[in-house]
Amino acid sequence: MSTSPVVRYPPEFFRRVLRQEAPGGPPQSVTLVQPSVLAVDEPGALKVALLDADGYPSLEYQGEVTLEGLPGGTCALAFRRGESAVGRLDNISLPQPGLYRFTARFEGGYAKGNPTRCLTHVEQHLYWGDPHVHTVLSDCWPQSCRSLDFCYVAARYLAGLDWVCATDHVSNGRCEFARWKEQRAACNVHDDPPAFATLHGYEASLQGGAGGDANVYLARPLPMFLDDYEGGTLKSLGEKLAAELPEKEFFLVPHHTTRAGKHGEISDAIYPGPNRMPLVEIHSKWGTSEYRGNPNALREVHPGPSYVADFLRRGMVFGFMGGTDTHATMPAGRGVEHAEHLDGLPGMTAVRSATLSRETIFQALRRRQCYATSGDRIYLEATVAGSPGGEVLPIQDPGRPRGIAVFAAAPGDIERIEVLRNGDVLHAREIRDWHATLELTDEEPLGPCLLESAAGKQFAYYYVRVTCTSGAQAWSSPVWLQE
Ligand SMILES: [Zn+2]
Ligand SMILES: [Zn+2]
Repeated sequence: MSTSPVVRYPPEFFRRVLRQEAPGGPPQSVTLVQPSVLAVDEPGALKVALLDADGYPSLEYQGEVTLEGLPGGTCALAFRRGESAVGRLDNISLPQPGLYRFTARFEGGYAKGNPTRCLTHVEQHLYWGDPHVHTVLSDCWPQSCRSLDFCYVAARYLAGLDWVCATDHVSNGRCEFARWKEQRAACNVHDDPPAFATLHGYEASLQGGAGGDANVYLARPLPMFLDDYEGGTLKSLGEKLAAELPEKEFFLVPHHTTRAGKHGEISDAIYPGPNRMPLVEIHSKWGTSEYRGNPNALREVHPGPSYVADFLRRGMVFGFMGGTDTHATMPAGRGVEHAEHLDGLPGMTAVRSATLSRETIFQALRRRQCYATSGDRIYLEATVAGSPGGEVLPIQDPGRPRGIAVFAAAPGDIERIEVLRNGDVLHAREIRDWHATLELTDEEPLGPCLLESAAGKQFAYYYVRVTCTSGAQAWSSPVWLQE
């Protein structure tokens, strides 16, 4: 089936929201979002935005953005002064399997898109989202936060995301029934599968040492949010939720676990277990909580063992999530918003799923079928012993070598790909290209490498870290080998 590309702009209501709440100045940069996975001849969209110096959509551009390198030849999107410079080219299709990276160009410069992996047969697409966005309803930095409508419109049309979750604060008097009702309604209004999905969720705060800050994600909205701010822990919060909802309809995600004063040092006594807490937010605009000494650490770091590496070594089973924790309501956005933020490195989460809907994204996240990135949409396939990130495999023969296969591609050059085993770098390769394949075998007998969990189980885990010359990174969720 062949289709012809069509230029589309956001419907009028969405354009009004962008103009009202983020009237951007002269354009400084262009962004081009490509689908990460597309089947041969499957229609896809290229999403374009012209941003001002703070990352807001320009209202001042009169002219064209050309898209170069397309199989059918160059296409152009026209923008005019007084309208937010945001649009898309629908119905593009790719005639052959391969790796495609296009270029968007305007009068002031150009940018490469994120790579599209085109395959003859696609079982799972890759859907990008920001699971951690605050709006004015959070009553936290209200001077920079924007409306709920803006959260959804910016996620879909400005950042070109596939899904988003507005996770407004609820604890310590920051939410009540009326706000909760508004939040639920807006989430349902903007859910528009299969084009765009919205998740129900909120941020529950706990005391430092009791779990710190954690987000709650819901398969369907609760009549009223549940939190446990005074004296509660991650475990008691999980129990409260489990009393109201089936296990498959909620999960918790702790975040910026290394932040001083809010630290998420998770003792065995308060760990709710892998079903109720399947993921950890490894990166947000506050910084990376992967391991002590990482290049993008939070500005104020807690001295205790509150890094993701500390949790994994103790046998906790965490897939990786990335989000912004934006307090300017700019999903997946760069731009200055908070003195303690690392502005150039928004976090994102890539979800492997056949289709896009609230239900499919929620369930794929709960099953850890996802990976985290900072800064860019980095494409990453990583398998260990034939299984993708997030899987827990039984150890059948500790003497049998484990094959590790990685394919990565990025909008800019990849500097390095590292394979980690039990938190240590097992193999590092310098790349200096925008895509790379890596295959290796870990032949060391697993027996002497095994760690022991608090429950007395022997295990080992592997994951892959990709670092780009831009500073952007990707972390595959780990694969566990367990007794
Ligand atoms: Zn906040
Ligand atoms: Zn937050």
